[in-house]
Amino acid sequence: MAKKQFKAESKRLLEMMINSIYSQKEVFLRELISNASDAIDKIYYKALTDDSLTFEKDSYYIKVAADKDNRTLTITDTGIGMTKEELENNLGVIAKSGSLSFKKENEIKDGHDIIGQFGVGFYAAFMVADVVTVISKALGSDEAYKWESTGADGYTIEQAEKETVGTEITLKIKENTEEEQYDEFLEEYRLKSIIKKYSDFIRYPIKMDVKGQRPKEGSENELEEYEEEQTINSMVPIWRKNKNELTDEDYENFYKEKHYGFDKPLKHIHISVDGTIRYNAILYIPEKMPFDYYSKEYEKGLELYSNGVLIMNKCADLLPDYFSFVKGMVDSEDLSLNISREILQHDRQLKLIAKNINKKIKSELKSLLKNEREKYEEFYKSFGRQLKYGVYSDFGTNKEVLQDLLMFYSSKEKKMVTLDEYVSRMPEDQKFIYYAAGESIERIDKLPQTELVADKGYEILYFTEDIDEFAIKMIMNYKEKEFKSVSSGDLGIDADENQDKADEVKNENKELFDYMKNVLSDKVKDVRVSKRLKNHPVCLTADGEVTIEMEKILNAMPDNQNVKAEKVLEINANHEVFQSLQSAFENDKEKLDLYTKLLYNQALLIEGLPIQDPVEFTNDMCKVMV
Ligand code: ADP
Repeated sequence: MAKKQFKAESKRLLEMMINSIYSQKEVFLRELISNASDAIDKIYYKALTDDSLTFEKDSYYIKVAADKDNRTLTITDTGIGMTKEELENNLGVIAKSGSLSFKKENEIKDGHDIIGQFGVGFYAAFMVADVVTVISKALGSDEAYKWESTGADGYTIEQAEKETVGTEITLKIKENTEEEQYDEFLEEYRLKSIIKKYSDFIRYPIKMDVKGQRPKEGSENELEEYEEEQTINSMVPIWRKNKNELTDEDYENFYKEKHYGFDKPLKHIHISVDGTIRYNAILYIPEKMPFDYYSKEYEKGLELYSNGVLIMNKCADLLPDYFSFVKGMVDSEDLSLNISREILQHDRQLKLIAKNINKKIKSELKSLLKNEREKYEEFYKSFGRQLKYGVYSDFGTNKEVLQDLLMFYSSKEKKMVTLDEYVSRMPEDQKFIYYAAGESIERIDKLPQTELVADKGYEILYFTEDIDEFAIKMIMNYKEKEFKSVSSGDLGIDADENQDKADEVKNENKELFDYMKNVLSDKVKDVRVSKRLKNHPVCLTADGEVTIEMEKILNAMPDNQNVKAEKVLEINANHEVFQSLQSAFENDKEKLDLYTKLLYNQALLIEGLPIQDPVEFTNDMCKVMV
């Protein structure tokens, strides 16, 4: 029989999996049991919603059986089974979504990342087995098929015999090596403990034939050997358990089991509500961003169960977009099994649950911020941007919910601070919340526009992400304090001698400024003497609502409308350069033209804006030198 090849991508993954240095090889069993449980869920769900199928609870189970003599471990389930095509499609391809290309190979250091990220659960079997054989009979099919593979070199499929619907997976356990004891996966006690550890809450019985000794009947001290079938797992789903019976490890295991993420969750939220609406939920705030989080591929949503039966993998209606990073599940007795996607959207119960969950997530994040600052900052690094999008979208409807969760880098504290922290330490004479936008903290540190505000001793928030300024425009003011860009026309800083002097200079040099404005024509709205510059000769600022940073961002968008900031070229009258301008104005207009263009282009460079004609600019520089 001809061997079929795995798809190229799958093959590479498979090789990594087989040679994986991943230490926790035991998770292969968790993966196979989880698949078996899903398969039973599917048939269970069908039986509940389809009258032609009868469902007897006792006839659904998972069985784990080890055969030491033959070195095989068999996992049998009475689930929905797979057709020939399904065997081929489901087990012949890994990373169906092509997600591997997202991740560079060197980022995948061990099998750990792969399991979970790509749903390659089944392939974990190759970490402990040389040969994997799957015999399956699908519901509604008369034929059974056998899929077999020895690993990366491909697989075979042929017809097989199997009486009942379901799947039987047999692993030929690897021989021991110097580093690895594969034998342990044939030991009853070891298998029992792995099942207990990872799969205790699986809803269906996981059975094993267990050998033991017991007192012989009718005898005081004689023992007899026995073998009996035992159910190893407690079958109580974790979300139905009491919070104080559960450890952090239990929650972490559930997170991994469910493939919610490949990281260690930052926080879990266990909710049990028993009021007008009854539901249990386990939610997680991940630590790391999923690789596709900020892409179109990412789908938000929680698993939705109706009385213990999974009815939807990703119920998007349960989470607002700004909390789309939350993972987890909700189980409610009050939801109908037959509920369709369309009905769900209008379901009153579901809306209530969603509202409830939303509140809970918010309060948990707040308490994380308050009590576990480091963890919160870790979280914010990954998902802060999403919160800011949340503030910005829907015309700012959600700003009240979210503004207290925002953080920005502070010029004074040199770390992330909240708006509340900023406002609460504002000096009395400070009217505004000042911010500076730029590419990076280092860039903003050097912005000449910050000079006056910084000199006044005011704290400045650094906006380094595209969304920041837009989000802030939505908030407008926080605790009655308005936001103000350090590059905005009027900084709202009280007139002092600096100011008076500026006005004086302005009046005395009106013609000079008018002349310079003419040279630059419509490139700028105005040329002015600066009230904010201390050491730098020039900078650009903006009058009106649109700042220069916003112009940059808007124009980088695909459907840009060519929005322009009203740019103002500000000149530092205290700088030596100013004297050169004055004397050029008196004696050599051609020189003044040259200086004006140079200063303008320098201001553009400082802002990180492109120079229209770089060649002209360098030629101009040379003119000054010679
Ligand atoms: P995942 O479970 O994350 O989808 P797997 O590689 O573990 O990835 O499984 C691939 C697919 O193979 C499953 O989605 C399921 O459709 C099918 N499958 C695996 N094991 C079984 C099983 N025991 N019974 C029925 N179908 C199964």
